[in-house]
Amino acid sequence: MLIKSTEFFKTLPPKKCVECKKTMDEQHECYGNHCNECMSNQLK
Ligand SMILES: [Zn+2]
Repeated sequence: MLIKSTEFFKTLPPKKCVECKKTMDEQHECYGNHCNECMSNQLK
């Protein structure tokens, strides 16, 4: 599937966890700037 350059630039860059710098999925945006793993670590 082809993506127009205009559509490409509308796409936001992948979010990265502020703790481990791992790229996060869009679905984790409700967790702020931390990935699932780091969130779990904080809950301990
Ligand atoms: Zn993390």
